[in-house]
Amino acid sequence: MLDFIIMNGTLITMEGRGVGVLEDGAVGVKGNRIEVVGETSEVVKQYKAHRYVDATRKVVMPGLIDAHIHTGLGILRGLSQDTDQWMQKGLWPFMEVLTSQDRMIGSLVNIIEAVKSGTTTFCDYDSPMLELVKNHTLIGTRARVCEMINEMPDDLSGLAVGELYPFDPSIGQQKLQANLKLMEEWHQRENGRITCLMGPQGPDMMSKELLLEVKALAEKYDTMIHMHVAQGDREINQMIKRYGKRSIPYLEEIGYLNRRLMAVHLTEATREETHVLGKSGATMILCSGSIGIIDGIIPPAAEFLEVSDHLALGSDQAPGNNCNNMFNEMKFTAILNKCKAKDPKVFPAWKILRMVTIDAARALGLGHEIGSLLPGKKADMIILDLDQPTMVPLVHKPIRNLVPNLVYSAKGSEVETVIVDGQFIMENRNLLTVDEKHAVSQAHQAGAALAERASSLVDLDTPLMTMMQQGYL
Ligand SMILES: [Zn+2]
Repeated sequence: MLDFIIMNGTLITMEGRGVGVLEDGAVGVKGNRIEVVGETSEVVKQYKAHRYVDATRKVVMPGLIDAHIHTGLGILRGLSQDTDQWMQKGLWPFMEVLTSQDRMIGSLVNIIEAVKSGTTTFCDYDSPMLELVKNHTLIGTRARVCEMINEMPDDLSGLAVGELYPFDPSIGQQKLQANLKLMEEWHQRENGRITCLMGPQGPDMMSKELLLEVKALAEKYDTMIHMHVAQGDREINQMIKRYGKRSIPYLEEIGYLNRRLMAVHLTEATREETHVLGKSGATMILCSGSIGIIDGIIPPAAEFLEVSDHLALGSDQAPGNNCNNMFNEMKFTAILNKCKAKDPKVFPAWKILRMVTIDAARALGLGHEIGSLLPGKKADMIILDLDQPTMVPLVHKPIRNLVPNLVYSAKGSEVETVIVDGQFIMENRNLLTVDEKHAVSQAHQAGAALAERASSLVDLDTPLMTMMQQGYL
């Protein structure tokens, strides 16, 4: 007896070379795993279930994967953009007054936002993850988490742009220990829904000694390393000044380029550096919306795809991207890369969909567990309503327009039901595990109080403040 069967739906299995559409399909789930996938008539003939979910005029597909998100910065949404000094002058004044409680409150709403647009797996990269991870257990999401490790004092607001970051080994050790504690306490917890990675923040933000220590620990725990790499001219500038080398050649020299590395951004990577990284087996995580807004740059994803399929999309943090919705990320990624190549044929919709499902799962080392609808895999699924204006019309012949509509038209609000590890966490757009209204109201209050505390710290000459004073905002 199965726990439930979702039937009469259009399945996008993400199996095979493309997206694996199966019309009038059914998925049967027992416990936290998919037991059967097939034609509805066959599945209901062979299996009985405690519950039947009718998916007529609905799409059933694997839950989406956000390969890079800092949910702890959710509370800072909209406070730093339209500036060329995003981090130092935009973000840092607010970071100075950001409390752990603010991070928890912002993270909860950030995860809710993402779940409501179909995200079921999060690579959450933030601090203090020992606390933030509890939001994932509360809501019921799958998360690959790490503590962000660097060797710098938290308050760098007095540091001039371009000046070398000061390193303090005692801070590095403290943060490393927090990542290890996370690993000891949370790895494979919640029925395997929570897994832990090592999280060095970037090659520019810690000493070579600490980076090597992190690498040795990732090998010891047989886990992956989630790290920003070549994430902007800020980083390259620091690397050249400190080591006389750009980030990727430096990482190659110290043995970091291999299957364990999840390299985020590559904003400043050259074509050659991108190829070296891709050929090493490392993963590229592409955050199109965030890097577009923060840097006005389109990272070298096309170059990476010339040598590897280990590419996953991430929404990054709310104060950069301003939006943690993978439908938004899919559309951005397709359009920006078509524009960059001046070629509308590149980054087709089916390939983009793989970058948030099966290709992402494989890139993150989870390909055997999630990313497609296949018997034996974990039951992480979403159901989308096709009777929404964004999904009309639905045509099957001579061309099936379902996937282009999903990537170029859907907003995420078409997602009705979200299932993670066999558990329903959203039905009819109502979250079942958390009080959404309360979470939103708490975040409004915490955000307003935080802005008040930061008001004397924000530079008056930043673009946002200037626009404010001139009456444009
Ligand atoms: Zn990031």
